[in-house]
Amino acid sequence: MKIESITSSVHRLPPASPWEDATNKVQALEFVVVEVTTDTGISGTGFSYSVDIGGTAIRTLIEDYLSNLAIGMDPLAYEQVWSRLSNQSRRLGLGVNSMAIAAIDVAIWDIIGKHRGEPLHRLLGGARDSIPAYISEINLASSDRAEDLQARARDYLQRGYRAVKIKIGRPDLEEDIERLTKIREVLPADVRLMVDLNQKWSAAQAIQAAGRLEKFNLEWIEEPLLYHDVQGHADLKRSTRTPIALGESLYSKYQFLNYLRAGAVDIVQADVAFVGGITEWLKVAHLASSFGKPIAPHYMMELSLPLLCAVPNGFMLEDVVGGSLTELGLLENPIETRNGIGTPLDVPGHGIVFNKTALEACRATSQDVKQTFSGGSK
Ligand SMILES: [Mg+2]
Repeated sequence: MKIESITSSVHRLPPASPWEDATNKVQALEFVVVEVTTDTGISGTGFSYSVDIGGTAIRTLIEDYLSNLAIGMDPLAYEQVWSRLSNQSRRLGLGVNSMAIAAIDVAIWDIIGKHRGEPLHRLLGGARDSIPAYISEINLASSDRAEDLQARARDYLQRGYRAVKIKIGRPDLEEDIERLTKIREVLPADVRLMVDLNQKWSAAQAIQAAGRLEKFNLEWIEEPLLYHDVQGHADLKRSTRTPIALGESLYSKYQFLNYLRAGAVDIVQADVAFVGGITEWLKVAHLASSFGKPIAPHYMMELSLPLLCAVPNGFMLEDVVGGSLTELGLLENPIETRNGIGTPLDVPGHGIVFNKTALEACRATSQDVKQTFSGGSK
């Protein structure tokens, strides 16, 4: 089998509900969608994304360089394609290139699944048929009152979720504690509660705060510190019995290895789009497994779902409020969790089919992006 062509496009749209965390207010998500065709007539859809900026840079890397490197290669030899794209873009560091490689890699796995007639979760291991999902809020806006938080929590319970993640990281820790107290009041004891700091705290602050948070029996504290502070996370982990989750800001298996070796992480949250696609994500998952750590990937719900069901250490699926491709109106057929459980589609490949009209409506060229950002980011 040979890759014949790769087309790519950028699509920019706001989250389906406002997103604001302790360190960032999200204006838009940018999805880079690729279509890879082969000489057998089988084609695959791939995608990657960035938050607020970078979509057109990812697309340019694909369009001008990576697609030409991949054309003519055998997609079934996915390691060869991945290595070639990775080696050729090594000088760029990590980030834009791993996000670009991811889009092509996801399309290649779609092709492999279709060629073998297997859904992705079975093709990659078939560890389970479904996975529990957690509802994940990005709502730390100053107008967000504790009463609103409680009302939303009741709604999540009614929809069947047994795990809830909220943002904390207000300037005053007492406000975070107040919010957690309010939400714990409405969540039954067996419902898991997680918090996400988006790298807000220093190690010293986190060690102090984690002690105060222990009474809430949190399932995990996510990204408490800057993403590169391995030592700080290790120090924090030794100081608290609450598990530490991170990984959405790491871009390769080697970065995860550093955290795992240092004993600085409990729950591994690799994002399939950021680490370079499914090929590298699987290696991160198996690496985590060899350290006895569960994986609970960041975002990318529709794609994380089959991946979590493939590997033995799959833990929980993140269902971000306002962020699924279904909620964004981008899919031909909805892919949703039901009663707090995600079940992969039983079709060959990943089964994610974009709605062409919806994609067209939010297509963004370099010119569009320049116009959006003229006068500075809003
Ligand atoms: Mg997070």
